Amino acid sequence: MIKCHNRHNHHQRNTKQYSYKIVIMEAEIKILDKSVRKTSNGFSVKGYGAKGASIDNNILEQIDVERANPKADEVLIEVLYCGVCHSDVHQVNNDWKNTRYPCVPGHEVIGKIVETGASVSKFKVGQIVGVGCMVDSCQTCNPCKNGDEHFCAGEHGPTMTYNGYFRDPGSDYNTFGGFSTHIVSNEAFLLTIPEKLELSSAAPLLCAGVTTYSPMKQWGVKAGDNVAIVGIGGLGHVAIQIAKALGAKVTAITSHESKKEEAKAFGADDVLLSTDEDAMTKNALRYDYILITIPVPFDINDYINLLTYRGSLVTVGLLGEYEKPTNNMNVAIFDRTLGGSFIGGISQTQEMLDFCAEHDIAPEVEMININQVNEAFDKVKNEEVRFRYVIDMSK
Ligand SMILES: [Zn+2]
Ligand SMILES: [Zn+2]
Repeated sequence: MIKCHNRHNHHQRNTKQYSYKIVIMEAEIKILDKSVRKTSNGFSVKGYGAKGASIDNNILEQIDVERANPKADEVLIEVLYCGVCHSDVHQVNNDWKNTRYPCVPGHEVIGKIVETGASVSKFKVGQIVGVGCMVDSCQTCNPCKNGDEHFCAGEHGPTMTYNGYFRDPGSDYNTFGGFSTHIVSNEAFLLTIPEKLELSSAAPLLCAGVTTYSPMKQWGVKAGDNVAIVGIGGLGHVAIQIAKALGAKVTAITSHESKKEEAKAFGADDVLLSTDEDAMTKNALRYDYILITIPVPFDINDYINLLTYRGSLVTVGLLGEYEKPTNNMNVAIFDRTLGGSFIGGISQTQEMLDFCAEHDIAPEVEMININQVNEAFDKVKNEEVRFRYVIDMSK
């Protein structure tokens, strides 16, 4: 049973209502064996992964994770914390029909470097670093040179932290994420965690942070803009804080009455219930920018009418079809723009971390132990997670 009330927050925020403290789970603590066993091809460590599509509804179980030895420009990291993202659940369940098993998820990793390859120059053993959604790319193509490693035009595209190459689903090349005692990453994909950020709560920024920061920068959200953040979960609650820090007037839009007060505590000036048709109608043409973080199919038409003329609506998190076709009448008559955004490049991820440190932005996290991930996955699936689970691997 996961006790959902750990809250840490030593940061000052403009959210005085909340006083959080860390409550350690009372569940039985099973610590993974952290030894690194040499194998003929590299080494083997313990992790939690799904063995295959047909096995027991893809529950995660303790498995041996086989990794290649770090190359000259790579580092070996001992994982301290790893966030649980909705993408982890999608990938384990093969919702995008591209999962390579065994699937060891986890792309919000904070850890300590324990070994460096011969040519690693910017990082050293003992340093605490972050690893987000990617661990490598060609680093020579134009997108890579421009800091858009997630658009890598190299042979295989970017190397995602788990599930291998993004653009080469036919390949059987696989990578394994942070639900593991150790992970290997290219030096160029390491993030520096600013001193001001607490390590455990910084982990979710590595995906949830950059996924919401990147589109707000791309679409130029600025002081005074009317911004709506739709879906107040793992991504949305960070997005509210980022939009506020950019100086926007922020409305949280949620279907959960119970999240109203929390959204305000994160800094939202106003909260709209998406189930309240009257309120949705009254707020037509109000927003310059809407960021939708709902991770499952929904009807986008409900939100288009909320945009002002020439306003933009961007969807993140959902990688699939909307529930209903877009009615372009409502888009065209007010010169509205609909967009999407994936993650962000490495330099922008660093920029986001620095921005969050400067503005005291911190995800709301509940710490769990690695043996509680299946329960955590169920709660993510059933929208019972309050904001973000983080696995504490540091013990
Ligand atoms: Zn993610
Ligand atoms: Zn590239």
